[in-house]
Amino acid sequence: MPRDPYHSLVSELMAQQTQLDRVVPRFEAFVRRFPDFRALAAASREDVLEAWSGLGYYRRARLLHRLALEVAAGGGELPSSAAELERLPGIGPYTAAAVASMVFGEAVPLMDGNIARVGARVLASADDPRGKEGRAAVLEWVRGLMNGAPPGDVNEALMELGATVCTPNRPDCVRCPLTEGCRARCEGDPTAYPPPRQTRAVVDLRWLVVVVEDPKRRWLLRQVAEGPILRGLWLPPFAEIDSGRPLEQQALGLLPFDVTQSIGISKPIRHSITHRRIEAIPARAVIDHPVRVAKGWSWADPANPRLPTSSLLGKLLGSVSTSSSV
Ligand code: SF4
Repeated sequence: MPRDPYHSLVSELMAQQTQLDRVVPRFEAFVRRFPDFRALAAASREDVLEAWSGLGYYRRARLLHRLALEVAAGGGELPSSAAELERLPGIGPYTAAAVASMVFGEAVPLMDGNIARVGARVLASADDPRGKEGRAAVLEWVRGLMNGAPPGDVNEALMELGATVCTPNRPDCVRCPLTEGCRARCEGDPTAYPPPRQTRAVVDLRWLVVVVEDPKRRWLLRQVAEGPILRGLWLPPFAEIDSGRPLEQQALGLLPFDVTQSIGISKPIRHSITHRRIEAIPARAVIDHPVRVAKGWSWADPANPRLPTSSLLGKLLGSVSTSSSV
């Protein structure tokens, strides 16, 4: 983790639920464009979302922007304790502990999946470390390791150990520096810990997505204003499919103007957002004259929309440009 407070916070938020190889180039471009809290606070939310494009989970970008506004209003310095950090928008216990320990040296233990696994094994804890009691036991154990050692180093070393040595299915106890005091190793089956996680149910959704192309090959986009996902992003108009009505009729109902051209239905594409599995059916119409649209709508080049959007747009572009059904 970078030791600069602003950089560490941005990288920490970007790395949540996003693979590191996707984060690195976006992080560098982001901090070049917004070099500190004040610059980020001065930017519009649209610009921040645009710079975040491709990382997904846009709620993090909105919260980071709100956080920057608060920090800038308070003088531009990030607070240094985990307790104060947690009061800022978008900062949960994990991020607060990571920044407080690694940037400011506070003795506050971290809990991520790797540390939870290592701790549950060392303690041979039958309690799930994601639950209240199991979590408290692992945190207490980590706190004990910080006695005399730099807290950030302890947290980072445990995360690294979990990622490389104490892996979920093949813990390499021979190479492990904790082998002496590890109860799970003594018992002979470290993979019995932690107990298996209850998985979150997957929700299946079927969306109709209406792709309207104008004579300049621009697509009609709408800024998503409602719902738990994709809010603030620009996409072709979409809605959950009503299986009792023809798709063409539903497509026309999603548009802000009348379309007389024929509407073609393309093959469904698959897209996942958190635990939602989406089957998106593109309905496409090509209009022969430009149409002015109201606020909240826009015409944009789908290959380079210059608006914050989702990777769903790229999938749609690939799907309708290879489709022969229109
Ligand atoms: S001794 Fe084995 S089970 Fe225990 S922490 Fe090390 S790698 Fe994990």
